[in-house]
Amino acid sequence: MTLRNTRDLRKSNAHFKKALTRLPLGVASTFRYWGEDRTIYVKKGKGGRTWDIDDNCYVDYRLGYGPAILGYADDRVDEAARKGMEVGGVFALSTEREFAVAERMAKMVPSVELVRYSNSGTEAVMAALRLARAYTGRESYILIEGGYHGLFDAAMWMANMDEWDPNSGLEPVTVPYSRGIPSTIKQLVHLTPMNNAQRLEDIFKKHGSTIAAMLIEPMMGNCCAISATTEFVQLARKLCDKYGVLLIIDEVKTGFRVAKGGVQSLHGVKPDICTFAKAMANGYPIAAIGGREDVMRTFRPGGAAHGGTYTAHSVSLAAAERCLQILDETPALATLASAGEKLKSGMKAILDRRGITHSFSGHSSMFGLFFAPQPPSDYRAWKKSDYSFYDKLARHMQDNNIIVEPDSREPLFMCEAHDESCISDTLRAFETSVDLTLEQVEEERRAS
Ligand code: PLP
Repeated sequence: MTLRNTRDLRKSNAHFKKALTRLPLGVASTFRYWGEDRTIYVKKGKGGRTWDIDDNCYVDYRLGYGPAILGYADDRVDEAARKGMEVGGVFALSTEREFAVAERMAKMVPSVELVRYSNSGTEAVMAALRLARAYTGRESYILIEGGYHGLFDAAMWMANMDEWDPNSGLEPVTVPYSRGIPSTIKQLVHLTPMNNAQRLEDIFKKHGSTIAAMLIEPMMGNCCAISATTEFVQLARKLCDKYGVLLIIDEVKTGFRVAKGGVQSLHGVKPDICTFAKAMANGYPIAAIGGREDVMRTFRPGGAAHGGTYTAHSVSLAAAERCLQILDETPALATLASAGEKLKSGMKAILDRRGITHSFSGHSSMFGLFFAPQPPSDYRAWKKSDYSFYDKLARHMQDNNIIVEPDSREPLFMCEAHDESCISDTLRAFETSVDLTLEQVEEERRAS
């Protein structure tokens, strides 16, 4: 079936050809490449919307993979960032504002007793793992299947779902995300499915004394927002305590989004270390490692190394101070969660009218749409589901001016600026896109 592309992408298509001559895949991040004729280039973003260089206007539910929690180009945060610019950039020295932001974080997230800053989620998690190793004197670590902790070698190990046959009775194979990852790292990785208590206990029993850390995103920001049960997170806490392993909760996507105190507050579990990035500064590049005082004080000469030229840049720090103040002192998080509720109930009504079985995963501020009666409880369940309907639907939605991820594993992100007009435009486009997807499925069935 020919896709009814209502968009004019001539300028983006022409720019793509030019960009290819200087940029691999014509983009600055591989995830931004959506194919030769579908890769778009942004002119600007404001509130919950993004405009491409062809002047197509989209309601955006990727929000830069989560950071724009208040909406793009938020005047309040941008004004603070401009004041931060007047401070002068970076100095290879500290500024007073580092303490102010750390104080705010500690107030919002009780497990955050001390703070260090980084520039990106990857850097923060990398430092957290180094810290755990330095503190425990151990090297191996536990990762959850489907989790994502950034693009550094130690975190880039996954269960190979592409090659896994759910009916084979075999376990998925642990493979690196990419070429270029030293295979020697694999021996340090223990990969286990979310919510499988028995498997987790077995790993601790067998290897507990050599494990430095367990890394977990209790709501997987890159895997359908698959969520841990509170029992599973509590079990992880208990096992970590028993075996002297540090629990690292990666809140890069959930932090300052699903609740002021992050996903850890929803489960009532205190990690030893946690990491934050995306929603901290509404898109300005800053991240943080926070945690227990005795663990965090391992960042010292002779302990765990940490630093970086751009760490705690005055622009990002000023943006973080203002953004966190807004998230802490105004109903912004409740507003965006309620927009998420409205969106989900509108989608549900449209799907129910057509008898399409579906469910939602995650939280109203970041949720996955799933075409099965129950959302998956682990990555293996996602593989067993029919995600092809979403894959088709996402393309139709993009063609109807809604930015959602082409991959069903990336949740939809809400921001405070997603107002009534954003929701109603989205639901209109969603209804059209569902019908186009049904037509496409039917045509493909007839053709096969
Ligand atoms: N951790 C989690 C849970 C993430 O979702 C991401 C990015 O999506 C990262 C770490 C890496 O963050 P960054 O892309 O800022 O390096």
